Amino acid sequence: MTGIFEDLSTLGHEQVCFFHDKETGLKAIIGIHSTVLGPALGGCRMWKYASEQEALKDVLRLSRGMTYKAAVAGLKLGGGKAVIIGDARADKNEKLLLAFGKAVQSLNGRYITAEDVGMTVKDIDTMRTVCDSAVGGSNEGGSGDPSDMTAFGTFRGMKAALKFAGMGESFEGVKVAVQGVGNVGYHLCSYLSAAGAKLVVTDIYPEQLKKVQEQFGATVVAPDEIYSTDCDIFSPCALGAILNSRTIPMLKCKIVAGSANNQLEANEDGIELFKKGVVYAPDYAINAGGLINVAAELDGYNKEAVVSKVTKVYDTILDVLETSKNKSIPPHEAADALAEQKLAAKKSVDRAFAPV
Ligand code: NAD
Repeated sequence: MTGIFEDLSTLGHEQVCFFHDKETGLKAIIGIHSTVLGPALGGCRMWKYASEQEALKDVLRLSRGMTYKAAVAGLKLGGGKAVIIGDARADKNEKLLLAFGKAVQSLNGRYITAEDVGMTVKDIDTMRTVCDSAVGGSNEGGSGDPSDMTAFGTFRGMKAALKFAGMGESFEGVKVAVQGVGNVGYHLCSYLSAAGAKLVVTDIYPEQLKKVQEQFGATVVAPDEIYSTDCDIFSPCALGAILNSRTIPMLKCKIVAGSANNQLEANEDGIELFKKGVVYAPDYAINAGGLINVAAELDGYNKEAVVSKVTKVYDTILDVLETSKNKSIPPHEAADALAEQKLAAKKSVDRAFAPV
């Protein structure tokens, strides 16, 4: 294992904080990757990590991803993330959430927390009783569940990918295979169905499948069949690392565009998709709708303004795909380059006007 500072140096983090509260059993890590563009915003994930190293690795990876997501979405926000080590079903309680809220508060706004895996809108409400830096609650001015806006952004990004692939912009008759019809996947199916797409779906929970089958006439396939489904668009909306050396050879789609975070298992998998001629809409660029939604709370939440901003995910995806084509680099590298450009531009402005 490498040392912590070696990891921070490789990934470029500013700060990592460990929080412990003996009374409630809170064990949390907050990773602040960058505050170059603004305060570091990112959700809190509660997960039963197999080891502390695994939790640290996750928070470092996720917080870095948030920096890139915010930059590409054009938000004045940095990247951060928190993890609480524990089982959300068994170990989560009010006292623990309050202890975590106080931990976030102690950072004086450098990190703003939100929902992620294992957390709910209600949990954010609890944290907000002791913490000013928590967004996505049900309070007045709170943005609530972000999944509909994530789905809408993903839908807009898919439209851009269709156009880029020379397939027009209409979803009429376009066959989309959706992996995971949970919060985001369900809303995405709703947008796609209304636009005339033909849906093939999979999930591991039969109740979720029944809902999309009944409401949108979707065809259901087994979880492993989704990769080889003959379709126009494959839309990963469940797990990370599902684009890998096992699954990529099975794909029969022209486009991969979905909401899941960290879809590529490794950088090489993005290169492989590019070589195969599959148009890939980079995950953090297409799924930014949820972040745009929660971030809007910081300026006074206005749904109309949010929808207008999320609509522009279309332009971001088109821009990234055009850059990828013009520079002959895979789209995920084009998205990284766009984020890094924005960070470098801000850093150079800050240097130019720094007090002497
Ligand atoms: P969710 O938990 O509500 O839905 C995920 C669905 O995937 C569930 O129905 C689950 O049963 C299903 N699933 C799990 N394993 C599966 C498998 N092996 N095969 C098929 N289906 C499987 O989560 P969500 O909020 O809808 O988020 C979906 C993805 O989008 C996640 O990767 C999440 O990180 C990402 N994301 C979500 C948001 C948001 O606003 N919720 C924002 C950005 C990114």
